[in-house]
Amino acid sequence: MEKVVYEHVEVEKMLHRLDVWFLPFRWGSNIYRGCEHDCIYCNARYTHEYLGMQEGEFSHKIMVKDNAAIALDKEFSKEKWNKNLTVNVSTVSDPYQPAEKEFGNTRKVLEVFLKHHNALLVTTKSDLVLKDIDVLQEIAKTGFLNVCMTVTTLDQELSSKIEPRVPTVEKRLEAIRKLKGAGITVGVTAIPVLPYISDDEETLEGMIKTFSELGVDYVIVDVLNYKGETRQRMTKFLESNYPSLIPKYEALYQTDYCDKEYSKNFRKITNRLVKKYGVDHYDKMYSYRKNKDAK
Ligand code: SF4
Repeated sequence: MEKVVYEHVEVEKMLHRLDVWFLPFRWGSNIYRGCEHDCIYCNARYTHEYLGMQEGEFSHKIMVKDNAAIALDKEFSKEKWNKNLTVNVSTVSDPYQPAEKEFGNTRKVLEVFLKHHNALLVTTKSDLVLKDIDVLQEIAKTGFLNVCMTVTTLDQELSSKIEPRVPTVEKRLEAIRKLKGAGITVGVTAIPVLPYISDDEETLEGMIKTFSELGVDYVIVDVLNYKGETRQRMTKFLESNYPSLIPKYEALYQTDYCDKEYSKNFRKITNRLVKKYGVDHYDKMYSYRKNKDAK
């Protein structure tokens, strides 16, 4: 495994605007640049290509924003900033990747959210989030917070192949249980589901039922997309593990997006399942202040 190198940088801004029509929030903030989790399907990689990062650097050369909390505090202190706007931490890197153990920048940033009572959505794939449960509980008491844990599959063997550096499925499920026990709103994103590998109805139902039994507030399920390096990385993965699926994937992914008919049918199944198990409350992802349409 290639060694991870940390580079320390200072930034002027921590907030960036997201103009993605299907997202229920308009602002994001990344505490680290790059992501050690190295998921093979990662769509965030292409966002770093424009920064001139070479192939592989995204997961092995991590920029640590040393002044992240100070810069965010300045932006939140501006008169024109509206604290009701939900900020997603993070959008193209995981705030609880291993670097956080060493540098603790995410915790410092959470303290800034608490200070300003700013609406917050934490998106992660790591049980390391539990180290900050005390701050998260405080934020939940005084403002809007929800934590969104990503669990793409319950199959640990598959997870180890596609998300090699992400904590185990069991650890993530346990983290969900503890966060819910602490009175925090928790959702799950099961994205991406892999066509013909983890997409059969029985598997999807087992997964959604498990999340529902943990008491999660919402579940969002979606299928794999191809962007940037994802096509090459997925093809390598298929060659080593599911060579017979290569022609089927070529047929499904003639563009960066999955075949429309396949996607429509997939959505029909998953929409029915999230309703059946009572985890279709996507509105819990938005601020209770109804700021989803705020600009
Ligand atoms: S955790 Fe998210 S950002 Fe990090 S490598 Fe995986 S998909 Fe990409």
